[in-house]
Amino acid sequence: MYILIINSGSSSIKYQLFPRDSDQPVCSGLVERIGQDNSQVTHEIFRADVAQTLKLDQRVKDHETGMQLLAGLLTRKDIAVIADPAQIGTVGHRVVHGGETLTEPTIITADVKAKIKALYPLAPLHNPGHIKGIEVAEKLFPTATQIAVFDTAFHQTLPEKAFRYAIPDKFYREDGIRVYGFHGISHQYVAGAAMTWLKNPVAKLITIHLGNGCSMAAVSGGRCIDTSMGLTPLDGLVMGTRSGAIDPSVLLYLQQQKGYTAEQLTKLLNKQSGMLALTGHNDMRDISRLYHENDPAAKLAYELYTYRIKKFIGAYTAALNGLDALVFTAGVGENDALARELVCRDMEVFGIHIDIAKNQLREKGLRDLSAGGSSARVLVVPTNEELAIARVCRTLVAEGHPNLESS
Ligand code: AMP
Repeated sequence: MYILIINSGSSSIKYQLFPRDSDQPVCSGLVERIGQDNSQVTHEIFRADVAQTLKLDQRVKDHETGMQLLAGLLTRKDIAVIADPAQIGTVGHRVVHGGETLTEPTIITADVKAKIKALYPLAPLHNPGHIKGIEVAEKLFPTATQIAVFDTAFHQTLPEKAFRYAIPDKFYREDGIRVYGFHGISHQYVAGAAMTWLKNPVAKLITIHLGNGCSMAAVSGGRCIDTSMGLTPLDGLVMGTRSGAIDPSVLLYLQQQKGYTAEQLTKLLNKQSGMLALTGHNDMRDISRLYHENDPAAKLAYELYTYRIKKFIGAYTAALNGLDALVFTAGVGENDALARELVCRDMEVFGIHIDIAKNQLREKGLRDLSAGGSSARVLVVPTNEELAIARVCRTLVAEGHPNLESS
């Protein structure tokens, strides 16, 4: 039997298929730009006899079509990885927002779906896409158990002093306005891998997820005690197209003096800010190239981006009262040596010393970039949210949940 992992975004579906007892996926893929004319499906097969990547340029009009396409690819005769969709016993879904009620991996019932829908106002860009993915998966794999794993769940251990905003209490009680934090599946996964590598179950870690979205977490003994994103994934670090933390008065100014609407402000801060606003690019590969060509905008952007991370490292070292390791992960964290070097530069006060030569090496897997004399390790740990979800599903199966016996 197999576990299918679905990561369904507003306009994309990422997926991986795992045998029930293995961490090695048999295939993975991405359906992107759903609803647009230039949709694309990339499907990778990892069977020993057929290792291949398939690219299909075809319009994918909605999530249902995308899911049908991927289900078809799993059983397509020439490249089949399974014979029958009924071999999928479990479908694990990444869900961005679980609020305060959905804090554990959960079997999806009508009640769970209602709770995910109730969180639409807090996650308008994400939760509707997840619900679509879940509902289509229920139709396509009717015998499978559907499980949701939440990106906010890891941060539910935050103490109240870290998750409350200093605004009237009723906004928390009536509207749920508080810090939730995101990328939790990734932070938990890389923190777990780092603790295992360090052989230290009580390690004090700062995990730094730098991808399209960027966030940090302070993790003590596997429990998250603070994180940089807030009510939404807009707060904290400078990101590809998001501003990160900004004085709220900037919004009031733009609204009152410049007549910006709420919709325009949402677009401005989420889609037109961050590295894109500073350089005209949102992919760090382009900005890094410009940096090395001495482009002043790229220089400033890298400084801003890494300075913000340094400030969080200082804050989280204080919150943890110590630091055993920094853990870099995700697209930028795993690949961008320049960003890591700038973050770790002049950080001796925290016991952070990066080995410049090791930092430049392109190796796979967990890497230790610390220089001799560094009391805090500087690690790169590749994230794998799909594997993390598959493991959670497997644990639920192993615990013998009655609904999962057949999977
Ligand atoms: P993610 O959200 O983890 O998939 O990260 C995506 C981002 O990682 C891209 O937008 C790039 O900015 C960045 N990225 C990917 N590969 C590299 C690389 N080799 N060097 C620098 N940045 C990279």
